[in-house]
Parts: sequence; structure tokens; C-alpha cells
Amino acid sequence: MDCIFCKIASGQIPCKKVYENEDAIAFLDASPLSEGHTLIIPKRHFEKAHQMDRESAEAVGEAILEVSKKLVKKAGVLDYNVLQNNGKLAHQEVMHVHFHVIPKKGDKGLEFVWGAEKADNTRMAKLLTE
Ligand SMILES: [Zn+2]
Repeated sequence: MDCIFCKIASGQIPCKKVYENEDAIAFLDASPLSEGHTLIIPKRHFEKAHQMDRESAEAVGEAILEVSKKLVKKAGVLDYNVLQNNGKLAHQEVMHVHFHVIPKKGDKGLEFVWGAEKADNTRMAKLLTE
């Protein structure tokens, strides 16, 4: 499989690793939106978040927590975004599930538009809880 994140996870491609546990690895983004922008990936290949096995999801969750703590305690980051995209329409560029932790300082970091719209939450709540 020709997946750049699998190659990073296996050590075939070097990275600036900042955290690792049994099933996840965290490394600095090569094209950061701000200093400290970190990517967290499961070591096993999954394309989207809902496809992860429980072990990978737990490991990724722990890594997000630990990376965030490091950014706050060691790098003085106060505000940050955790971002995760699934699929091309949702701006996923590498098809190996990954979470971004992006420090926000001044105009550095993630920029986005929150395009809220009217939605039928009654229908959706019923659908998702049945
Ligand atoms: Zn992969």
C-alpha cells in the first residue's frame, strides 16, 4: 500500500515525532498552519474515523490528550483547535485517518467559516437513537 502515513508509522519515512503509544503516533505537520501543528494517526491503516478499531480509537484519543497537554505545558500554547476530516468533500487529503492539533495564536492557526444552517434535529435525534 502506498500510504505516506503508514510509511511514517513504520519508520520508512522520517518525521519529527513528539509522542507515541502502542497504537498511535504523533508528529509535527510538515506544512504547519502554526508552530506546533501536530498530526496524530493510528499506526494501523484506516481511511476514516468511524472505521477505526477500538484500540486505535483509544490510542488516538490518548495521544490527542497528551499532545495537547505538551503544547500547553511545554510550548505555552493557550488556545488550539482539534480538527479531523473524513473524505475528500470534507477536505481530507491523506486517506489515512489523522487528527490535527493546531495551536491558535493571533492570526496564526486554523481559519474557517462556521456556516450554520437550519436542520431537522428532531428527525436526526430519532434516527440516531433508534
Ligand atoms: Zn496508511
